[in-house]
Amino acid sequence: MQKFSLIILLVCLLSTSSLMAESPTPVNKSEQDQVREIVRHVIESNDAFVKRLPPDYFSQHIHGQKPMATMVTCADSRLHTHALDIHPDGDLFLVRNIGNQVSTAEGSIEYGIRHLHTPVLFIIGHSSCGAVEAAMAKPAHLEPSIWRELDTIKVVGNQSDNHAQVKASVESNVNHQVSTALKKYATEVKEGHLVIIGGVYDFRNDYAQGSGRLIMINVNGETNRASIQKMPIVNFK
Ligand SMILES: [Zn+2]
Repeated sequence: MQKFSLIILLVCLLSTSSLMAESPTPVNKSEQDQVREIVRHVIESNDAFVKRLPPDYFSQHIHGQKPMATMVTCADSRLHTHALDIHPDGDLFLVRNIGNQVSTAEGSIEYGIRHLHTPVLFIIGHSSCGAVEAAMAKPAHLEPSIWRELDTIKVVGNQSDNHAQVKASVESNVNHQVSTALKKYATEVKEGHLVIIGGVYDFRNDYAQGSGRLIMINVNGETNRASIQKMPIVNFK
C-alpha cells in the first residue's frame, strides 16, 4: 500500500513539474510568429506614439486627471476612441464592455460621474453589435460568464440575421442603458450637473449619414431625432 502511494506521489510530482516547466509561449511555430508580430505591432505603435509627442507632454498627466466625459462603449474592436475624439488622452474616462452596458460597469461609471465629476456621460453602441446579436439569438454554447454579461441588454427581436432588427435592437439597448443611467443619476441630471447622451457609431451606414458617423439617438431620455437635433447642446449649425 505504501509503495503504491509512493508511486502515485511520484507520478503527481512528475506531471506537476512538467506542467510548471511548460513554456507559456505557443509551441506551434506559426502561432509563435503570429504572436511575435502582434507584440511587435504594439511595441512599435507605442514607440511611434511616444516619438511624435513633445518632450513635456506627460507632465500634464502626472498630478491627476480631469476628463471632460465618462464614456461607455462596446468593447468591439471596430469601435475605438479615435473615431470619437481626435485626441482622447485625458479627455475621456473610458469604460468598455460587451454591449456598452451600465449595470455591468456600475462602479467604473460611478467613479467617472461622482468622483471625477464629468458633466457628460456618453453611452455608445454600434452597428452589427455581436453582444446585441447574441442577446437576440441566445446561442446555447455561450459560457455562463458571458450570459451574465448579456443580462441587461434589451433587444426587440430574435432574428440576429435580420439587419433591420439588429439595428432596432442596438438602438433599444442604447436607450435602455440611458434609461438605467437616468434612474441612477436622476439627481445629477435634474440639477443640471450631468447630461446623458446615447449614440450609435454607424460603420454600416445604417442611418444613411455616411459610414463611421456617430448618430445621437438619445439625450436625457429624449429619443425624437428631430427634437434632439434642435437641442443647443447638439446643434452647431
Ligand atoms: Zn458591440
